[in-house]
Amino acid sequence: MVHALGKEQSQAVRALIGRPCKEEKDDADYISDNSRTADLRFEPPLKVVQYPDPVLRARNKRINTFDDNLRSLADEMFDVMYKTDGIGLSAPQVGVNVQLMVFNPAGVKGEGEEIVLVNPVVYKFSKRLSVYEEGCLSFPGIYANVLRPDTVKIDAQDASGAKIKVKLSELSARVFQHEFDHLQGILFFDRMTMDVVESIHEQLKVLQTFQVHHQAELQIQVFVELFVGAYTAVILVLAVLLCLVMYNINQIVHRNFTIYE
Ligand SMILES: [Zn+2]
Repeated sequence: MVHALGKEQSQAVRALIGRPCKEEKDDADYISDNSRTADLRFEPPLKVVQYPDPVLRARNKRINTFDDNLRSLADEMFDVMYKTDGIGLSAPQVGVNVQLMVFNPAGVKGEGEEIVLVNPVVYKFSKRLSVYEEGCLSFPGIYANVLRPDTVKIDAQDASGAKIKVKLSELSARVFQHEFDHLQGILFFDRMTMDVVESIHEQLKVLQTFQVHHQAELQIQVFVELFVGAYTAVILVLAVLLCLVMYNINQIVHRNFTIYE
């Protein structure tokens, strides 16, 4: 695991020195293109995908359709966020690879402020940095220190497409930056120092192994369901054929008896 973190460690080092605004703009290249209707399709209830699901590293497309479907997706994301005791959630974490995040630092429905940000871009990070222990819904049970700028100034759109320019600080800035990273395919351990990554190395390995086994189990389950389905279909066809054969024999016997009578 640690060996696989070469590129990610360089990102951690970049996080330590603070990333200049221009570099963050360059990161916007990661956003491939505009989303289509199919990219925003989802089926409630949403489930949070866990590391190392590749959807967490996939590209997230810009949103250019601000309709009821988008608002429903944001509502569903808040629902799953509250149910899983989160305070922020990005669309890729529920398997939808688009530039959307929701958060509420209060973490309780009906309290605090629910914030929906679409296509966010950071145009300024504060020079002042702080360490804070972060968790992530895609890494259940893993908490570790991450160094980030204290405040950020951002441009974004709300769920209706209206443009927003806002400065975030304290916990809001922290949650925003964590979710913003998700939208660039960056995970919180990419931002940790080598020592911190080492301290959660075993937990990451366990999660990785569990997910690999879980995926294998799901594939076996799909195979068994297909096999049972095909087996049932064959039995049904044979039963129908047997009925037809029996019916024909019955007809022949009946005709012969009729002739002899
Ligand atoms: Zn996260």
